[in-house]
Amino acid sequence: MPLQLFNHAPPSYAQDEIGKRGGFNHRFGGDAIQSGYRFHDCKPLHLIYELDQSDPLCPSYLTGQSRLPLFYPFRYEQGCSYEVRGQDIRIVGPSWLTDNFPPWDAPEAFCELPTRLSSMPYDPSDPQDVMAFKGVFGWDSLDEAGIKDALAIARETTSIHPSTHAPEDSWTYEQTIESCYGAPFVQGPPVAQCQNPNCTKEWLTTIALQTEPVKTEMVWPDQFVMTYWQICPKCKCIAAENTCT
Ligand SMILES: [Zn+2]
Repeated sequence: MPLQLFNHAPPSYAQDEIGKRGGFNHRFGGDAIQSGYRFHDCKPLHLIYELDQSDPLCPSYLTGQSRLPLFYPFRYEQGCSYEVRGQDIRIVGPSWLTDNFPPWDAPEAFCELPTRLSSMPYDPSDPQDVMAFKGVFGWDSLDEAGIKDALAIARETTSIHPSTHAPEDSWTYEQTIESCYGAPFVQGPPVAQCQNPNCTKEWLTTIALQTEPVKTEMVWPDQFVMTYWQICPKCKCIAAENTCT
């Protein structure tokens, strides 16, 4: 599946096509060092995408930057948060990040390919659309009738139920779905706070995800893993994480 890049104001998203060249300079893969990135006090991160923020379909998440680099720390044991200052990259968290334990034998760099973004249909008043991306945008855009339809969709598509998922016996089905239904994330909506020690613990916003890559996008070959990126609305540090699909 291609990259899905989210815009939150208003809720919308774009999807990419690796190998296709559009009017903007987006690309998949490439060597981060050769691309001019400088890593400070950390091993080089793997460049998964470098997006051109001049494309109206690419939200300007990094103010004053022309490029939005989406890295993943394959040289470390788990995901991390990084700060982007021009082409200077620093890991800001977690403080217990450990290396020398690659989850798989990652290449030095992923094959560099052009890619282009296309706008995808998303109607924030349509319960089908909302439930497909509830883990990214939430469901507050639905009215009362829309929530009712959304709950019907949840009954058909998930086994989430208060008896197995609610932390308290008093939770209703609606409360349980509101908290636990996080499509396209199968393990619930990602809930994380900023790990930058110089920032307050802001809740992060999901900006992009990639799952089930095809052969040319072998970020996690033969593994059912989604890579996703979130941003801190305050300090703009980016968290790169993965989760099972
Ligand atoms: Zn922050």
